[in-house]
Amino acid sequence: MTRIAASATASALPDLSAVLSRRVTVMGATGSIGKSTLDVIAHARKLHGDDALPIAALTAQSNVEYLAAMARRFHPRLAVIGDAGAKERLKDMLIGTGIEVAAGREAVIEAAARPSEIVMMAIVGAAALEPALAAVRRGATVALANKECIVAGGALLQSAIAASGAAVIPVDSEHNAIFQVLNGGSAEDVSRVTLTASGGPFREWTLERMHGATPEQAIAHPNWSMGKKNSLDSATLMNKGLELIEAHYLFGIPPEKLGVLVHPQSIVHCLVSYDDGTTLAHLSAPDMRTPIAHAIAWPRRIAGPSPKLDLAAVKNLSFEAPDPGKFPCLGLAEHCLRAGGRTPTILNAANEIAVEAFLGRQIGFLDIARVVEQTLASDNGWNGPAGDLDAILATDRWARDTAGGFCRQLVA
Ligand code: NAD
Ligand code: MG
Repeated sequence: MTRIAASATASALPDLSAVLSRRVTVMGATGSIGKSTLDVIAHARKLHGDDALPIAALTAQSNVEYLAAMARRFHPRLAVIGDAGAKERLKDMLIGTGIEVAAGREAVIEAAARPSEIVMMAIVGAAALEPALAAVRRGATVALANKECIVAGGALLQSAIAASGAAVIPVDSEHNAIFQVLNGGSAEDVSRVTLTASGGPFREWTLERMHGATPEQAIAHPNWSMGKKNSLDSATLMNKGLELIEAHYLFGIPPEKLGVLVHPQSIVHCLVSYDDGTTLAHLSAPDMRTPIAHAIAWPRRIAGPSPKLDLAAVKNLSFEAPDPGKFPCLGLAEHCLRAGGRTPTILNAANEIAVEAFLGRQIGFLDIARVVEQTLASDNGWNGPAGDLDAILATDRWARDTAGGFCRQLVA
C-alpha cells in the first residue's frame, strides 16, 4: 500500500551545515506547534548563529500582533495573515522591516508554494489540506503536525506525494515515534502498531460527571500543552481516533493492525510489534519540541530545547485498555477507519463543528459524539473513493452544515 510518510532513510546523510541552512516555512506560526517550532529554531540560532534555519514565511489566521512580533524577531521574507481585513494592520506593524506582507486564504496557500526546504504544517483543522497540497506538489519536505488534512484527504495526499516525490515527516508525537521506530523498514513486516493515549483529563471521571464537563475542564490536559482543539479532542479520545486514521495513511498500515493503549504518563509514544515476538517502543518526555526538532533536522539530529527524559524521576509507567463506553468518539473513528471512502472526511468535519459548539457552550461534552454519529448516519451511504479535492471539499462542507444543524437542534 502507498504511504504518505517518507519511506526510507535518506541515502546520503547531509552535513550539519546543510541541515542548518534549510529555509523553513511555518504555517500556523501563532499556535501551539508554531510557537514550539520557533522555539526550536531560536535554540538552533543560539547554538549555531543567527543564520541557522532562515525563515521563508510565517503565516497565521487572525493574531496580527503575535505574527508581527514573531516576524520582527525571526525576519521571514514573507508574513501572511489569513484574515484579509487585517492586512493593513500587519503592514503598519512591519513597516521598515523589508518583510513582504500578504493576506487572505489564497495568500496562505501561496505561502506554502513559495520556495523553502521545510514546511512546518501547523495550521489546525481541515483548513490545512490545500496549503499542505501546495507544499507537497512543489516537492517540499513537509513536517506534518496537522492530522485533520490526512483524515479529510489522505488518499489525495498519497497520490500528490507519489507524483511529486515530496517527503513527509510526521510531527504528531505518536507518528513521529512510529516513523523513528520503523526507521525506513517495511510496514509489511509489522504485526501491530499501538498508539498510546494519555486518557485525557476525564480518564477517571464517571460518565455522569462527564455529562456536566465544562470547556475549561476539557481543555486542561494533564501532560501536554496544546491548542484548544487538540486538547479537547484528547478529552473525547477523538484525537486518538483521528490518529489511527492518520497512522493508516502515513504508514500504509491496515486497520486490523492498529490499536490504542492508554498510558497516563505520556512517556512511551508508540509500540511497534513483530511476529518474531519483538516489540519496539519510542520514549521521550512529553514535549512537542522533541518531534519538531527531529522533523526539521531529519535524517540528522540537532539539539532541542525540550527537557530530557529522566526515568528515575518518572518511576512508573502504566498501561490500560481504553473504555469504549465512556469514549464513543474512538469507536466512531475506528468505524470510519475500516469503512474508508468519504467517512473519515465526514467524521473530521462533524467533529470540528461539534468541538466549536462545545467550546462556545452551545452543546454538552457528551453531545460531541452524538453530533458526529448523527452526521455520519445522515450520509446517503455512498461509499466510493473520497474523490478529488473538489469532492473532498464538498463532502467537508456538507458534513459541516449537517453537523451544524444537529448542534442547533440540541440548543433548541
Ligand atoms: P493552535 O490552535 O494552537 O494553532 C493553530 C494555528 O493555525 C494558529 O497559528 C492559527 O492562526 C492557524 N489557523 C487557524 N485556523 C486557520 C485557517 N483557517 N487557515 C490558516 N491558518 C489557520 O493549534 P495547535 O495545537 O498548534 O495544532 C496545530 C495542528 O497540529 C493541529 O492539526 C493539531 O491536531 C496538530 N497537533 C498539535 C499538537 C500540540 O501539541 N499542540 C500535537 C500533535 C498534533
Ligand atoms: Mg498525538
